[in-house]
Amino acid sequence: MRLTRYFLPVLKETPSEAQIVSHRLMLRAGMIKQASAGIYSWLPLGFKVLRKIENIVHDEQARAGHIPIQMPILQSADLWRESGRYDAFGEEMLRMQDRHGREMLYTPTAEELVTDIFRAHVGSYKDLPLTLYQIQWKFRDEVRPRFGVMRGREFYMKDGYNFDLTKDAALHAYNRHLVSYLRTYERMGLQAIPMRADSGAMGGDNTHEFLVLAETGESEVFYDAEITDLKFGDRAVDYDSVEQCQAVLEEFTSRYARTDETHDEALFAQVPEDRRRRARGIEVGQIFYFGTKYSEALGATVVTPDGSRVPVHMGSHGIGVSRLLGAIIEASHDERGIIWPEGVTPFHCGIVNLKQGDAAADAACDSLYKALTAKGLEPLYDDRTERAGAKFATMDLIGLPWRITVGPRGLDKGVVELTSRRTGDSEEMSPEAAVDRIAQIYS
Ligand code: ATP
Ligand code: MG
Repeated sequence: MRLTRYFLPVLKETPSEAQIVSHRLMLRAGMIKQASAGIYSWLPLGFKVLRKIENIVHDEQARAGHIPIQMPILQSADLWRESGRYDAFGEEMLRMQDRHGREMLYTPTAEELVTDIFRAHVGSYKDLPLTLYQIQWKFRDEVRPRFGVMRGREFYMKDGYNFDLTKDAALHAYNRHLVSYLRTYERMGLQAIPMRADSGAMGGDNTHEFLVLAETGESEVFYDAEITDLKFGDRAVDYDSVEQCQAVLEEFTSRYARTDETHDEALFAQVPEDRRRRARGIEVGQIFYFGTKYSEALGATVVTPDGSRVPVHMGSHGIGVSRLLGAIIEASHDERGIIWPEGVTPFHCGIVNLKQGDAAADAACDSLYKALTAKGLEPLYDDRTERAGAKFATMDLIGLPWRITVGPRGLDKGVVELTSRRTGDSEEMSPEAAVDRIAQIYS
């Protein structure tokens, strides 16, 4: 993409309404624009990152064997009356009427709707196990929407639902989700720690939240510092294997790690003092096993091998897709702007032309652009006739992990400069070598 043809409305001024760094940077980098309280339009750069995050989520869901569907945003109140949550959900649920006076609502989550799909089409143990998920906009009328996309009213969420014959099978689904979430967040360059959480209004007793440590996090967390050394890496876990998923669960959840809702001082005191940490975290996901709560309420049953009928065991599992943009920026930025992890960066690298209009510099940038594109990479070429300083400031603000700087002086020696956004280190090399290096980084 050439910057002169793109739509990147960066702000010079720091927006005064934004209290935390990720919100400020998303506004300054022209990623989002507030439409009304807690509701945002996604501008090209923000939308691109949102899509990258979404794609990683889809990819890892596929790896775990989960099946994508899409359910509607507007739902009828009837199903929610059947489950008893129409009243229980309270003021967070946005309610409305259609022209016939039928009560409708904007989906805050979708246990009822997915259970209705299940009960209509599945009747036998032979169809289990089954996990359906979607990535869809949700609406919760939060009392205090704030921090940009971190606590919006409208937000984008992956919500998945497992259906299993027995409690043991459903607990395997729970473990499988935990494993796949570890891999999902790591691919985004994030460390998200599974912590024992409170099941709240969802009911049930097995639940973990995934938290990204950050000073601006809304949750208070307590953990054993050893946890931050754990890496999932690229281990090949067989998601069908009960033992393998169980082993990962034990490795990642056996040390003390809890949100304030489940925090236990006496247990925490057993962690060696030098490893005890109290910090703040951003909740980027949560997994639940809640048994037969919704299947009993809505009559979602299956026939067992011996011919009896039982309600299915269920769980639900969420990832805050839009909140993740804020969480990634909170975890990865400096005073000049965002530093995107390679896994989610909107463009693979930037090209800065120090002397736009100079025939040799223009030609070198064009050929770099073509060579990168030919390798399946997406560069952002700053082809504006601006001062070098302004171009560098824009690149630093929008946080592309790699920048190639091209100028007449370097070209005389046959070199361009490759700079890492994270370390600031620069290296001179031939344009061909720069292309190869970037291709290798993303391979
Ligand atoms: P919170 O405690 O932050 O209000 P929650 O526990 O009510 O969240 P879940 O029902 O577990 O949320 O939703 C799954 C995920 O969706 C959360 O882990 C979070 O990442 C994201 N999420 C929830 N509410 C919001 C919101 N208002 N804005 C953006 N993301 C949200
Ligand atoms: Mg939650």
